[in-house]
Amino acid sequence: MANTYTQLYTQADSSHAPTNQEAPLILAGPCSVESEEQILATAQALAQIPEVTMLRGGIWKPRTRPDAFEGRGEEGLVWLREAKQEAGLPIATEVATPEHVELALKYDVDALWVGARTVVNPFSVQQLAEALKGVDIPVFIKNPVSPDLQLWIGAFERFQKVGVTKLAAIHRGFSYYKESPYRNAPMWEIPIELSQRLNVPIITDISHICGNRELLQATAQKALDLATDGLMIECHIDPDAALTDAKQQITPEELKALLASLTFRSKQSRNVERDLAGLRSEIDDIDSELLQLLARRMEVSAQIGEYKKQNNVTVVQMDRWKKILADHVATGADLGLSKEMITEVFEAIHQESIERQSRIMETTH
Ligand code: PEP
Ligand code: MN
Repeated sequence: MANTYTQLYTQADSSHAPTNQEAPLILAGPCSVESEEQILATAQALAQIPEVTMLRGGIWKPRTRPDAFEGRGEEGLVWLREAKQEAGLPIATEVATPEHVELALKYDVDALWVGARTVVNPFSVQQLAEALKGVDIPVFIKNPVSPDLQLWIGAFERFQKVGVTKLAAIHRGFSYYKESPYRNAPMWEIPIELSQRLNVPIITDISHICGNRELLQATAQKALDLATDGLMIECHIDPDAALTDAKQQITPEELKALLASLTFRSKQSRNVERDLAGLRSEIDDIDSELLQLLARRMEVSAQIGEYKKQNNVTVVQMDRWKKILADHVATGADLGLSKEMITEVFEAIHQESIERQSRIMETTH
């Protein structure tokens, strides 16, 4: 297989193609193209960083609330193309409608991405796929906002069906109901499974996963360790003044330091790490089920304790316990589990049950 860059960017400026076959793609640039000065200054600074392979810039911004800055539209494309010419970097932007596709192509955008809010809507994805029929341009598909692998895969299939071949995934994390230090929970097992099922490059958008600057470095390293093929990082010449996503953007100088701090491993060792991560997350799921089961078991023990108390029965009934343990040891042997482990585990469980029941017996109503 060709490296990720040549696989995706045959049309792009070769002076920014990575020389190392295994080097990850680095897509950097502002969340939004805001002004001619802003995009030109950012692009020129980014072009000085050898690892940067592509300039990103949002032209149409999907905002949560109305009246927020929604992007510069066509005017922004004029500046983005100028930045491409001045900095010599290929450019990428987000498209959400066939009109966006038409305009992006008109202004020589080199790669397009479909945003997380658009990927959730199969009608929109289908329209974009049809608009790109016969156009030989790399298309990056972000994961849908919700942790729905099928929906993400479905988006790839819609583009594949119309003959778009230069496809890559962008992992930007998922909306999640639990408290999390991340803006969007990474749920690494989902992009890992996608890459195993579809064999497409994965680019990790650490900026939208983190939502802040502090977590970027650790998240980038984790992404690289799990065999990502590239990173998307939001960079702004003056991040605090950014019109969108100010908290997560960094300066080109900070990007340079961030990239210098990362350890790039060989693809093979990254793949080993990725496969292990899949298995580890399976273990985590099983352990969490075990914990739930143990809690349920103690709950039932407590109910038995209440019953024994009301009926004046002793807590420990040795004969029953000996029989249960012998049965478990025999079943365990059939399942390939050692007598020693089964005995230790069930003795611990039994001990905890006795303690709970004794506490119940000691309490007076
Ligand atoms: C973006 O890349 O600026 C963006 C809007 O991202 P997402 O679709 O991942 O929210
Ligand atoms: Mn953004």
